[in-house]
Amino acid sequence: MRRIKPPKRLEFKEAGLAASKLERVGLLATKSRIAILSIFFRIGLEKLHVTRIYQILQNNDYPIAQSTIYNAVDLFVSAGVLAIGRVTDGVSYYELNEEKCISQIVCRMCGVRQNISDLPLIECCRREVKKMDFDTDKFTLTIIGVCKKCRT
Ligand SMILES: [Zn+2]
Repeated sequence: MRRIKPPKRLEFKEAGLAASKLERVGLLATKSRIAILSIFFRIGLEKLHVTRIYQILQNNDYPIAQSTIYNAVDLFVSAGVLAIGRVTDGVSYYELNEEKCISQIVCRMCGVRQNISDLPLIECCRREVKKMDFDTDKFTLTIIGVCKKCRT
């Protein structure tokens, strides 16, 4: 059996983000899933298609079959981790499924906003709603209060 080398340059902080994201949505955090998802965390808002993901992994000395990538992104979409951003010439572009979810704390004094979409609570809501076979258009949660700076 051919030994698959661990990712080199992909061993950055995004791998941790990807692993905890997979765990929170109840998916097994395999090496290849972590590698694929960490690319999305690394590139931020850019949309990616499977061939591009394949190229990035190849360039990072991470051999992987394109079919593995297809399977992983399908799984990520059904788990709500990724969304299909657009389809151009039959090619699907994927992106992190974040814009559907706006969860934040807002200070009513200074207006500062902080994203709280990484809370386990948010993932839990997504998962439960998915179990109910409910197709979510938007998820918003806003906690209004006074920040530490404004209280002192
Ligand atoms: Zn404030």
